[in-house]
Amino acid sequence: MLSGRSSNFEIDIDTIPMNVAVYRYEEDDFIFVDFNSMAQKTEKITKDELIGKKVTEVFPGVRELGLFDVLIRVYENSAAEEVDFGYYEDERTKGWRENRVSKLPNGDIIVFYSDLTARKEKEDKLKSFGRIIDNSINEVYISDIDTFKFSYINKEAEKNIGYTLQEMQDMTPVDIKPDYDMHSLKKLIEPIINGKEKSLLVETVHQRKDGSLYYAEIRLEIMTIDNKNQFVVFANDISDRKKAQLQLQESEEKFRVIAENSVMGIFIYQETIVYANKALEEISEYESEELHTMKPWKYIQESYKEKLKEISVKRLSGQSFPQEYNDIEIVTKSGKKKIVRVSTQTIKYKGEYAGLGTVVDVTDIIQTKQQLKLLAQAVEQMDEMVRITDKDGIISYVNEALISHAGYKRAELIDKKISMFKSGKHDKAFYKNLWDTILSGDTFKDVFINRKKDKSLFYEEETITPIMDENNQVQHFVATSHDITKRVQMEKELHKLATIDSLTCTYNRHKITEELEIEIARVSRYDGVFSIMMFDIDHFKKINDTYGHDVGDSVLIELCDLVSKLIRESDRFGRWGGEEFMIISPNIEKEKVILLANKLKEAIATHIFKDVKQVTVSVGVTCYAKGDSKESILKRADDLLYAAKDAGRNTVIYG
Ligand code: GH3
Ligand code: MG
Ligand code: MG
Repeated sequence: MLSGRSSNFEIDIDTIPMNVAVYRYEEDDFIFVDFNSMAQKTEKITKDELIGKKVTEVFPGVRELGLFDVLIRVYENSAAEEVDFGYYEDERTKGWRENRVSKLPNGDIIVFYSDLTARKEKEDKLKSFGRIIDNSINEVYISDIDTFKFSYINKEAEKNIGYTLQEMQDMTPVDIKPDYDMHSLKKLIEPIINGKEKSLLVETVHQRKDGSLYYAEIRLEIMTIDNKNQFVVFANDISDRKKAQLQLQESEEKFRVIAENSVMGIFIYQETIVYANKALEEISEYESEELHTMKPWKYIQESYKEKLKEISVKRLSGQSFPQEYNDIEIVTKSGKKKIVRVSTQTIKYKGEYAGLGTVVDVTDIIQTKQQLKLLAQAVEQMDEMVRITDKDGIISYVNEALISHAGYKRAELIDKKISMFKSGKHDKAFYKNLWDTILSGDTFKDVFINRKKDKSLFYEEETITPIMDENNQVQHFVATSHDITKRVQMEKELHKLATIDSLTCTYNRHKITEELEIEIARVSRYDGVFSIMMFDIDHFKKINDTYGHDVGDSVLIELCDLVSKLIRESDRFGRWGGEEFMIISPNIEKEKVILLANKLKEAIATHIFKDVKQVTVSVGVTCYAKGDSKESILKRADDLLYAAKDAGRNTVIYG
């Protein structure tokens, strides 16, 4: 039994291992009558400072917090009550107290109380910790350290994994980790179980309720919750990061495969070249390891070094900078000079800015180009005309000589058909032969009569050469030509001179003799016939003497015109000499030729000549006889002509 100071049986309350305060009801308040040593320690106050003081004065919050009502109730009803309250009088006494309030037999009120502050604070901390976990954007899974069964998962975990906390309470981590069984899981957590590690960071795969999977990065540790050690797992869905990582790996892999198989040199540079593919090794003749220590501009021509340095500085600092192309001369390991086409651009390589370069060896192309340029210049300046067409005859090139000669502008010829030069002077067979020849791959050479822009014709001696591709297919035709119009005209003139008598425009003696030979050859081969007439103007000397030589000439011309009109188209008419003429008449025999000769003789005799009025001729006529030679038939005709003279002139004699 306990009692206050005034009780008969006193117990020293200082021996009680709890905080004890004793109050006495006085004037609607309670005054302190006792305060044990443990309570003095708890409240950091001495007993003397309290005894006789009103509780409402010492702890003004006593009413607000409800303790005062409890004290009154217990005083009035004598039933003990327990009350748990916090009070905040000042910083010194701030805290939580759990009180058991009872009435002593002497009417005093005794309060046993304990300091709950530390426990309360811990509870509060746990509460707010729970809230944080609940609302954490991490998934949180808490499971039992012995059974592994989940005791708690937060909202985020519920959302992503698809199970509710309730559904998960019978599950263990292996139910959501297809990559673990219980054995491997136990092995995984061994280091934190035996205290070697405080926490574990692991990438794993979680399987949702719907069967789908996601990558999770988890941090696993053991925490004491509710006085129990539990596994706490904080998980992050890293599927996006993982996907990006895999894609990056895949694109890196692709890049590597492409780069290693590319015929184009590829390099990546930062401070030095950090990557070079096989093709670049071949172009530069340096091994990949040697290239790796190089600045990218080490072996290039001086004039580009500064520019390239400048570009790389910009690229490596991440400045946006358009792709650049340059044809640069480099020196290979063996000292060879090469021209390479380099293109660079800025990329990110292993998280840092870098330059990505491609290199193509264009040495051959550039050299060929230069040679072609020279050739083109030569062709352009040639006197020879040059036309190039495709296999369908569409013009793709013409040189200056052709342009100026044909009178066209270049644009009027390019892409036009080569047939625009046609004059119409060649027949279809000519062009057919031409195309047959060149399409079969042979060179065609002939004289063409072509037309200029001003419609005038010109002769060109032209050689057309087909250009074949590697499969022996015609690709182009190159035509070279020169104008031979003057030469043709001269030849024509010469030819005329060689065959035609310049005064009378009949055949000359040379030509008529040739014609006679041809006719003899023809009839002796085919058993044919022909006749000749030889005629001479009578007393021509007298005409010359009377009217002069010029009148004599005009008589010769007038006579020839007259005769030309009377003979057949197949007859050959020529001047044998002076005022003596010959007519060869193929396929004509005796009667017909006598008739023709008399017709001629009469026509001349009756023709009124311009100045001299009348002219007569004497005619000797004969037919080809088997075995006749040129000489024999000519002699016979000549003899007959003189016979006609002897017979009195203006006469025809056959023989
Ligand atoms: P015929 O034949 O009847 O016996 O008498 P002819 O006077 O014609 O005789 P001849 O054969 O002796 O004379 C031919 C003359 O023709 C001589 C020559 O002066 C003349 N003659 C020859 N060629 C030409 C010519 O081209 N022009 C002119 N005007 N006279 C010519
Ligand atoms: Mg005569
Ligand atoms: Mg004569």
